[in-house]
Amino acid sequence: MEKNKKIIKLCYLQIAFYVVFLTSLLLHFKRGLDHRAFALLIILTLLGCASALTLTDYLKSLLRRSGFDVAGVHDKKSLEEKLLQLQNADDTLDVGVMMFDMNNLKMINDTYGHEEGDVFIQTFASYLTRILTEDSFLARFGGDEFVIVQNHATWNQLEQMNLQLQTMIDTYNQTADHPLSYAVGYELSCKNHYYLIMDLLQMADEKMYQDKRYKKQLQKNGPLAARRSMLAESISTDSLKEKIFTLLNNRSEEKQYAFLMTDVDNFHLINDYWGYETGTNILNFILKKLELFPQTLFVNRYHSDIFVGIIDITGQDPAVVREKISAYHKQAIREVLESYPLNYMTLNTGVYYLNDTDTPAEEVISHANIARRRAKETSTCVFEYNTELSSTEQKRAETIHSFQNALAKKEFQIYFQPKISGKTQEIASAEVLVRWLREDGTLWFPDSFLPILEETGEIESLDYYVYNAAFQWLVDRRENGLPLLPLSLNVSPVHFRKIDTFTQRITQLLDHYQIPSKYLVFEITETTYIHNIDAVNQMIRFFHDRNIRISMDDFGSGYSSLNSLKDILFDEVKIDKHFLSAGLSEKGKIVLEEMFHLLKRTDKWIVCEGVETKEMVDFLIAEGCDELQGFYYYKPMEQKKFEELIA
Ligand code: C2E
Ligand code: CA
Ligand code: CA
Repeated sequence: MEKNKKIIKLCYLQIAFYVVFLTSLLLHFKRGLDHRAFALLIILTLLGCASALTLTDYLKSLLRRSGFDVAGVHDKKSLEEKLLQLQNADDTLDVGVMMFDMNNLKMINDTYGHEEGDVFIQTFASYLTRILTEDSFLARFGGDEFVIVQNHATWNQLEQMNLQLQTMIDTYNQTADHPLSYAVGYELSCKNHYYLIMDLLQMADEKMYQDKRYKKQLQKNGPLAARRSMLAESISTDSLKEKIFTLLNNRSEEKQYAFLMTDVDNFHLINDYWGYETGTNILNFILKKLELFPQTLFVNRYHSDIFVGIIDITGQDPAVVREKISAYHKQAIREVLESYPLNYMTLNTGVYYLNDTDTPAEEVISHANIARRRAKETSTCVFEYNTELSSTEQKRAETIHSFQNALAKKEFQIYFQPKISGKTQEIASAEVLVRWLREDGTLWFPDSFLPILEETGEIESLDYYVYNAAFQWLVDRRENGLPLLPLSLNVSPVHFRKIDTFTQRITQLLDHYQIPSKYLVFEITETTYIHNIDAVNQMIRFFHDRNIRISMDDFGSGYSSLNSLKDILFDEVKIDKHFLSAGLSEKGKIVLEEMFHLLKRTDKWIVCEGVETKEMVDFLIAEGCDELQGFYYYKPMEQKKFEELIA
């Protein structure tokens, strides 16, 4: 066909040549030449022109009759013939139909004119031709619609053809002035779903329509060009969503897929230590490895060191899939370590099984991301998303999104847990513990939201809120002539990153409320101490300058050796409740006895928390424990109850 076009062009050239030839002859022979020779030449020229014109006409008609469109693919008429032929065929088993609809053609036509629009169509058509096989029939259906009829097709093949097209178009779009995008729908007439050709076409058309609607919705987020990710070789979230949607929208019922999100643990360290170039090479290496994982439909770099992909897991047991991914990762890591100067590398993969076609693509991505994070947290390398994870995540999202509002609405309350004097068995002081009384009436315990707020850093403002409430309580009591008692306040680790702010804020509180220092104890956990020894010591000195005591909370849960106790600046040591949680074994008693012995010799005030039984009380008192805190005496209680208790 291309050849015929060339011949037509040559014919036009020939005519032009004859015309020029004729004109120059006329000018030449005007000066009186042989009339017969002159006439003969004119006749010859005219004959040449006529034959060229006839040939052009003939070739044009040939071209038209062969059923090709200007886009260089079969036209609608030949498609109709093809469909008729299939309609009359004995069966349409294993015939696949793929329908494509280009987006933005109207915009290109309107903005840049029809010529540019034609180029746009031709470009898309040229990419379509590249995914064809010898069993394909590609036709332009209408303005911006194309159809591929695929004989002897399989689902895998249709999927692959589309993914191949998407990849080519993604690459094209990286540098294109007018990025291409399209909607696609495909359907297969197979044993389980046998379709007549017209139904097949209709099914594919419906899927294509759904795809178009989804992609239009996404395009509202901004024009494609602007959505393109700046990171080389990375896929934008919207393009990823499109890929997932298209795949799920077109899936056959028996197909099962898993969406994977993989990242390299502590990749920034590789970059920092081995340099950016090595980092990039390693990422490219990993990408290539992931692409080779069996049954991979696609893999892309998502952002920074994160990769996303979909694998076909039809008929496979999830446990086997997990094992395969895990083994493959180990292999990939081994190869990276062999090829690059690294000593250590870990990959974390979150797996989300695409069981439900209706799950929105953004949820698919976020679920896999959650599972990936969990893989990292639990060091399991591969983690599958499950509903339990979903409720944890939901709570996490709720906490993060409602915290500021809850703080403003004073949904946080302080609870008091009395600490009992070992000597007098009377309430000597209390620990202030926060509770979140939610708008819906539910009461949240700190363990369920504090770790999240610690991660986001928002625990900082919650601590100040709690300190304010505790100081205010002491002030109110003093103003009402009621007896005061010391309060223990917890200090979260985040403050050690901003120690100056913390000391300033505490100074302001002390100046504002004018609480005598003997009524305040600040608790810093052993783990916080171990991780921030200098900062904690600096803070202790700040408190000591103001005669405020510091307690080492959860002692024994970290790694400080008993020996180090003699050097630490803490005034009080609060033995972790785990020492008592499993009851009191003989060995446990010996450990506690030794601990007490050393603490006494270093002049530390000893507090035991988690005291739950009479047996524990008797033992601890006999050993010289200064204060006891635990359910044996009281659980943490709300302010009013506590006030009644100490009245
Ligand atoms: P923590 O500082 O070790 O507080 C003691 C926790 O042990 C409290 O849990 C308390 O209810 C619990 N407990 C007390 N006696 C017993 C007992 O006999 N048996 C058992 N099994 N548990 C007992 P809670 O109130 O849920 O607080 C948990 C953790 O949350 C606290 O552990 C503390 O680290 C943190 N936290 C609580 N309130 C605050 C706060 O206002 N600020 C900061 N930064 N952290 C807080
Ligand atoms: Ca505490
Ligand atoms: Ca504690």
